[in-house]
Amino acid sequence: MPPGLTPAASESQAKRLCPASPPPAAGDSVLPKMKRMRKITEIFAQRRRTLSFELFPPKTERGRQALFAAAEALAELRPDFFSVTYGAGGSTASGTLDIAVELQRRFGLPVLHHYTCIRHTRAAIRRALQVMASSDIRNILAMRGDPPRDQPEYTPGPDEPRLGRELIQIIREFGDLFAVGVPGFPEKHVNAPTKELDSLYLKIKQDDGAEFVITQFFFDNEDYFGYVRRVRDVGVTMPILPGILPITDYDKLVSFCRTCGATLSRSIRRALEPIRRDGQEVYARGIELLTRQCRDLLDRGAPGLHFFCLNRAEPVLTIVNGLRLTVR
Ligand SMILES: Cc1cc2nc3c(=O)[nH]c(=O)nc-3n(C[C@H](O)[C@H](O)[C@H](O)COP(=O)(O)OP(=O)(O)OC[C@H]3O[C@@H](n4cnc5c(N)ncnc54)[C@H](O)[C@@H]3O)c2cc1C
Repeated sequence: MPPGLTPAASESQAKRLCPASPPPAAGDSVLPKMKRMRKITEIFAQRRRTLSFELFPPKTERGRQALFAAAEALAELRPDFFSVTYGAGGSTASGTLDIAVELQRRFGLPVLHHYTCIRHTRAAIRRALQVMASSDIRNILAMRGDPPRDQPEYTPGPDEPRLGRELIQIIREFGDLFAVGVPGFPEKHVNAPTKELDSLYLKIKQDDGAEFVITQFFFDNEDYFGYVRRVRDVGVTMPILPGILPITDYDKLVSFCRTCGATLSRSIRRALEPIRRDGQEVYARGIELLTRQCRDLLDRGAPGLHFFCLNRAEPVLTIVNGLRLTVR
């Protein structure tokens, strides 16, 4: 939430901004006097490569302090934007906005607000978008999200979107107020029947108004470049930023891969399994492997790097400094 706004206040503010549907048409301003934050798409148009960092909203005050300390350190790398995740089913809704607004205020950088539509009615989504707009959020990573863990077969209600593309359509009711990104899955989305259909679904999202892609993490760059080729073949032209997960702990890595449907490549297993119990060794080897992966991605034309930082700065600082490059 913006400073001083309780969830109830922001709801009434949203109603004031949008007393009755429909939402503002393209070009209409819900921010009459504020200078608007840049859209990430404008940065893509200016830079050959971008550098960006994903953070998540912490649950405690201590976690919040750690997050801003990490962001402060990461800001030294002159990133193009931060992104802030959104808890399953909206569980961190106010935390996501609060952190996003504060990051924008402190660092003057655009923040990509992740937003999932599962278990949200269309009316609630429109209200949330109004609040984001009035808080100068201009960039949204639009997703369906995952069903609750205890309800894997969750069926959306009649007024709830079923797919990420419907969220994009609702965001586009606001014209070009927001830049819209979508997630991409180099190894295909776990529930997509085939890679070919997965590619077509991405093209449909582009037709609906998506403008850039941030991928799930992967450890075999062939998965990323194969994905880029596959989706280009069906007409996807959006920039596709590779998502990078620094390796700091082997067991956590195995568990992340399982949760996200990403493959732990044979080369990573071979390098790290024998030393899995030695935390320092895993950390050092992980940095080495990830630095090599990032260098190869950039050498072969990736349009930037998007790090899943897990609210820690050091691994990312070491990797980016190790690349010895100005990423742009
Ligand atoms: C970079 C990144 C960031 C993420 N951040 C978050 C976050 O902050 N919070 C969070 O909860 N989750 C996050 N996720 C996870 C994401 O919410 C899940 O992966 C979710 O399952 C997919 O969302 P989606 O919008 O791609 O779904 P959709 O595109 O709706 O796809 C869902 C299913 O429907 C199928 N499908 C898609 N389009 C069509 C179509 N046109 N017709 C028929 N079927 C279709 C797909 O194949 C898939 O099986 C993130 C993922 C990534 C890669």
